[in-house]
Amino acid sequence: MLPLNATIVRIDEESPSVRTFFFDFQFETMKPGQFVMVWVRGVDEVPMGLSSKNSITVQKVGEATSKLFELKEGNSFGLRGPFGKGFSLPSEGEKTLVIAGGVGAAPLAPYAEAARSAGSEVHTVLGARSADDLLFEKFFAETGEISISTDDGSKGTKGFVTDVLNSLDLSVYDKIAVCGPEIMMASVFRLLEDRKVLERSEFSLHRYFKCGIGVCGACCIDKSGLRVCRDGPVFSGVQLLNSELGKYTRDASGRRVKI
Ligand SMILES: Cc1cc2nc3c(=O)[nH]c(=O)nc-3n(C[C@H](O)[C@H](O)[C@H](O)COP(=O)(O)OP(=O)(O)OC[C@H]3O[C@@H](n4cnc5c(N)ncnc54)[C@H](O)[C@@H]3O)c2cc1C
Repeated sequence: MLPLNATIVRIDEESPSVRTFFFDFQFETMKPGQFVMVWVRGVDEVPMGLSSKNSITVQKVGEATSKLFELKEGNSFGLRGPFGKGFSLPSEGEKTLVIAGGVGAAPLAPYAEAARSAGSEVHTVLGARSADDLLFEKFFAETGEISISTDDGSKGTKGFVTDVLNSLDLSVYDKIAVCGPEIMMASVFRLLEDRKVLERSEFSLHRYFKCGIGVCGACCIDKSGLRVCRDGPVFSGVQLLNSELGKYTRDASGRRVKI
């Protein structure tokens, strides 16, 4: 598949290190949780979750994302996709818990919206380092109830999303969707397992991708060998039992890197 040329039509500054880039066409069939391969010309091609039908929300961490941050309205990048398996939607009347940490909020914003449109009551637990780093707070508040945690206590509960989850009765939720830094997702995973609600959960994983279409095997996870790009990036909690989640990831050469 050749990349489509996406021209930037708007850039929103979400936080000091995160921007949303809106482009000039929509992926009409996209399912929340699916990703696109973003070709930053002359630098690299990197995976990004879709934060809406026509946007990606990017955290500046390295070479490709820094180059994206240099782009202005009218500039363009290439896009292949959407790829992968998204989050499964609740049925009408079911209750949904969305657990988002940092830039992990990006694919969960369209999910919360779609869950509400499907007739589900949505509760979002949104975590970030500080109040300035909270993503899509207003958007999540418009889709239902919201609880906030910040590491430094500048807004909501001081601590992690798990500190908020500790005070909730998790048995009332039919669907639990999680995306965030892997350390956070591993803590949430253990908590959901302890509370015996893991089978209702889905997690979106970040791994190093080369092809993005299930051919190269760079993103296979232990022990199942499931490919994050094709079989995921969204996996059920049960699929991730006894997996590498929270333990290690792999770099471009396939070497294990401790999380
Ligand atoms: C399915 C999927 C969806 C993603 N969605 C988003 C998204 O919506 N928004 C977003 O900002 N990012 C997202 N990412 C992560 C994004 O692909 C990486 O941050 C990006 O590849 C970094 O490229 P870079 O060249 O800027 O950084 P590099 O120069 O490659 O790396 C710079 C530093 O960032 C670290 N890093 C690189 N990749 C990751 C990662 N995946 N997680 C944590 N640290 C990393 C490296 O270890 C290094 O320390 C997603 C990844 C996957 C697999």
